[in-house]
Amino acid sequence: ADKEATARAMGEELADKGFLLTTTDDIINWARTGSLHWMTFGLACCAVEMIHGAMPRFDFERFGTAPRASPRQADLMIVAGTVTNKMAPAIRKLYDQMPEPRYVISMGSCANGGGYYHYSYSVVRGVDRLIPVDVYVPGCPPTAEALLYGVMQLQRKIRRTGTIAR
Ligand code: SF4
Repeated sequence: ADKEATARAMGEELADKGFLLTTTDDIINWARTGSLHWMTFGLACCAVEMIHGAMPRFDFERFGTAPRASPRQADLMIVAGTVTNKMAPAIRKLYDQMPEPRYVISMGSCANGGGYYHYSYSVVRGVDRLIPVDVYVPGCPPTAEALLYGVMQLQRKIRRTGTIAR
């Protein structure tokens, strides 16, 4: 909340005086939260809601989050769906190819903890066993609105924790 108040104060100072003084970290956070590039990475039914979120009705791009087809151009991975043992090495490899600082949203019960397939021999019980997760979005599937809320929570987290330290 303090950071958001600071951002508001910065906007008022800029409008009032025509210039502003701030820290490099604040400027980088402002730029980064307004340009999160998420990797298109749908694994199962949750992916349909993720795609729905990118369509005009919900329009993720209003928040500066645009899809990228390459991990090297992405700083956000949305894991949308069931993570199978067979897919696990590919997820890790793609994550390793993303540049730092990088973020992960786990979308839906399957990615969060195995979900419907929790006792299956072939499913990983949570993608956080493979890669670090920043935000968990609950649901089976979560709605596009819920995913959008998750993206906004991630933006708040980035503003709160900064990107230089990360
Ligand atoms: Fe499908 Fe539900 Fe698993 Fe999402 S959480 S991938 S909707 S079974």
